[in-house]
Amino acid sequence: MTTNPEQPVDPSNLRRFDRNLLDAGHQLAPRVLEPVPFCWFCEAETGTRSKEHIFPKWLLVHYGAMNEMVHPHRISMALGGLVASERGARPLRAHYNGEVCAACNNGWMASLEASAKPILTQRALHKRITEEEAVVLARWFAKTAVNLNVSQPYRLLVEALSRHDLATHIPDRFAVYLFRVRRQNGVVDWVQKSPDAGIVPSDRVAEFARLGALTLVTHIRIADVGAVIVHVPEALRSLDVLPEGTARIYPLPPRLPTWEGLPRHDDYLGPFTTWNLGGAP
Ligand SMILES: [Zn+2]
Repeated sequence: MTTNPEQPVDPSNLRRFDRNLLDAGHQLAPRVLEPVPFCWFCEAETGTRSKEHIFPKWLLVHYGAMNEMVHPHRISMALGGLVASERGARPLRAHYNGEVCAACNNGWMASLEASAKPILTQRALHKRITEEEAVVLARWFAKTAVNLNVSQPYRLLVEALSRHDLATHIPDRFAVYLFRVRRQNGVVDWVQKSPDAGIVPSDRVAEFARLGALTLVTHIRIADVGAVIVHVPEALRSLDVLPEGTARIYPLPPRLPTWEGLPRHDDYLGPFTTWNLGGAP
């Protein structure tokens, strides 16, 4: 294959998802292009690789979801009947990111899991979410969204800087929102997509089509809790994209919600994501 300025990475070093598209003769839509690293979450180039389970065992055991199957080709009616992201037909426990080093997995990821576990499994519904809980949850959901983005068949949209910073904090390009879901089919669901719609200046339609394609909007449902995790490209601010009918937990809002008071949707795909270019939170 010849060198293409739009595609500066040797195709044999790309993620399998991208290689398959190129092999099938497709042009790649906008995305982050980089060779598959030793570890998606740090700069290590050697060491021991390990498997980071995307949905950890403690979560699946708590909700009795160890054998829950994930079916490929979920069709989203909210997305106009389009296939939003493809998945393999495997049990949830078999979804892992195999390109994570043992130092990340057994270090900061393990302590983040330990901090997130009591929040996700012992929610007191009437309680207001504390700032400390919001930061842990938002970082846990952002880490989970990155694990899905790097390991599942979808465009890579989170750059190394944002991925690596998760080891210590939530990078500026993320925003995280919560809601509650009435209808539950199984324990865990997710989808990766772009913003749905919104009004942009008429002379900037092409620019926003590209920025939209580079913006990752991940919905993750765990039992009755839904999260929308937004990651924006460098040209945008995290609050330029707004999932309607959700409660923001990061960046920290002036007042955090109670679990009971979270906005409700029938379905985990419910919140519609729009451009929020006025910047008002
Ligand atoms: Zn690492």
